[in-house]
Amino acid sequence: MLSDELLKPFEELKDCAICPRECHVNRWESTKGICRSDNSFNIASICIHKGEEPVISGPLGICNIFFTNCNLQCIYCQNHQISDVAIPRASFSIKLDKIVDEVTAILDRGINMVGFVSPSHFVPQVKIIIQAIRNKGYNPIWVYNTNSYDKVETLKSLEGSIDVYLPDFKYMDPLLSRSLSKAGDYPDVAAAAIREMYRQKGPVIHLSDGNTAESGIIIRHLVLPGQVQNSIRVLRYIAEEISPKIHISLMSQYYPTAKVMDHSFLYRELYKKEYQKVLDEMEKLGLEYGWVQSIESTANYRPDFDREHPFDQFNDNSSA
Ligand code: SF4
Repeated sequence: MLSDELLKPFEELKDCAICPRECHVNRWESTKGICRSDNSFNIASICIHKGEEPVISGPLGICNIFFTNCNLQCIYCQNHQISDVAIPRASFSIKLDKIVDEVTAILDRGINMVGFVSPSHFVPQVKIIIQAIRNKGYNPIWVYNTNSYDKVETLKSLEGSIDVYLPDFKYMDPLLSRSLSKAGDYPDVAAAAIREMYRQKGPVIHLSDGNTAESGIIIRHLVLPGQVQNSIRVLRYIAEEISPKIHISLMSQYYPTAKVMDHSFLYRELYKKEYQKVLDEMEKLGLEYGWVQSIESTANYRPDFDREHPFDQFNDNSSA
């Protein structure tokens, strides 16, 4: 039985405006918001993931909680099996007790990091899960792994609860964000969200004795085929408006899903020369902290959410 105190964050969902879509729907009664999500714990998978950046995965991996649906709906989504709201799927709603049992069973194996993946439309649930697991006497490192389509005030409400922010920074081109993610305001929203995360954490990643992150921010950027200029604009913004000392994870892992096979530029994987241009710009801007994926290892990063353990095929293969 959940206490009234524990349930408090759910109240926000009665007139939901927790993300920049500001749908103002009652998620206690319907799933009519853009994220098509209600007030339950809609979780596609709770599993150990070893394919994140080395300071996140560590030697044992991170316990990732993958929420279903998404507030952004990118047409090329690499996790489309669980994020696309147009795909009819059985309810993934699970009870809080079961979530706590599954997460603490993983923590009992020596893993000390829990990641919320695609949490922007489930922030009240995130707060409740954190509190419920803390109530059991566990105090892992909490990671917020987001598309960055987050409201600053929602992020402020997580200050003190989240230890490590892992935001994507997808676009600085509003036409691109409008056509690929139905969010022309993404560049402004994400920039403000990441600045807020940076305000909370600063440029330094604090490491444990075992070299895993205890506090900090790592910005991820996925380079899209044919969109080198967008990537360069993202990197310039980070270097010039946030900090050249911030940690960046540059990703080459884009692959075309069935949905974009006929798209004018998303139909193919990234060319080596495109990726190299982005790498060159990164160096020119003095962005020297973080990780870059090797373009040769692209296929290694594809999860399969039709499997019981979507990431079992992964090794820790990010490069410093
Ligand atoms: S979380 Fe969902 S319902 Fe709430 S504002 Fe965002 S998209 Fe709309």
